Amino acid sequence: MNIFDLRSDTVTKPSQAMREAMANAEVGDDVYREDPTMERLEEMAATLTGKERALFVPSGCMGNLIALYVQAGRGKEVLTASNSHIIGHEIGSVAAIAGSLPITIDAPRGVLSAADLEGKVRGGSYDSATTAVVAVENTIGGYCYPLENMVGIYDFAQENGLKVHLDGARIFNAQVATGISVKEYASWADTITFCLSKGLGAPIGSMLCGSDAFINEALTVRKMLGGGMRQTGILAAAGIYALDHNIDRLEDDHRHARLIAESLQESGWADVDMEGVQTNIIFFTVGQMKASEVVSRFKEVGILANTEGDVVRLVTNLDISAEDTTEICARIKSLKIGN
Ligand SMILES: *Cc1c(COP(=O)(O)O)cnc(C)c1O
Repeated sequence: MNIFDLRSDTVTKPSQAMREAMANAEVGDDVYREDPTMERLEEMAATLTGKERALFVPSGCMGNLIALYVQAGRGKEVLTASNSHIIGHEIGSVAAIAGSLPITIDAPRGVLSAADLEGKVRGGSYDSATTAVVAVENTIGGYCYPLENMVGIYDFAQENGLKVHLDGARIFNAQVATGISVKEYASWADTITFCLSKGLGAPIGSMLCGSDAFINEALTVRKMLGGGMRQTGILAAAGIYALDHNIDRLEDDHRHARLIAESLQESGWADVDMEGVQTNIIFFTVGQMKASEVVSRFKEVGILANTEGDVVRLVTNLDISAEDTTEICARIKSLKIGN
């Protein structure tokens, strides 16, 4: 029986063509800033996001951390949604390493608006931390941030002397789903990170983009964190290949996600967050059944799923074809669970 891995879009493996691009990459010592392939990737990322410069980082977590370290830092506050990746999945590095105090805000789906920030900006008193950054995440749980929210948050930030960091790990999914360009989204943030290693299918890496002055500081912090790497052109070649070939095809992942979500919904036993299926992520529950139990049942029929708290999560990706999707839907239909 084939196993279909829908735990995440990080599980994809580099294709033969991507591996060939990696093998043939021209390389140099990137700590000396002498890697020509990395230079190309960083220029591509800067152009795609409309920022002055970009910097390769080994992970999205490090990209977010550097953005907060530079723009907030010790004794400063960061405003972010309580269900954001920075809060839930980055081991408190915002506090432990950047030295900033995260202030979490509850909002439906984690989508903030300027109104949510009202009254949250502090500073000017001898005994309070100063608010420095608003961090937004797009997509968040596969859901696309409405552009007007991003515009409102950016305007609010400008008026209040705050920076905006956009955790755009899956921002290309948002671009493909909404038709709003990454550049447009990024224009409403001072800095943006995006992952090469998720839907875009590269094995390693994220890009951190911002102004020239910001990237100069980011370079120093990356080195301090142990993220200065040498012949990175091998990884950059995978990133270039991903940006050249794997953006438009995210539409396939989105179509597959909708088909799988519909099969789940039609099964009668799954309660699917259909409105949330805008890109490649599906969340659902099965009655009173524990999410981990549902994951076990899915595993028995060769579908690997993940849990996110009490909810089951499926993520379509580059290694799941249209035929695979048909087979996955059939297996879901054959499952008798929850009653
Ligand atoms: C995956 C992800 C990250 C971090 O990426 P890693 O490369 O796994 O460190 C950050 N933010 C969001 C929203 C993510 O989904």
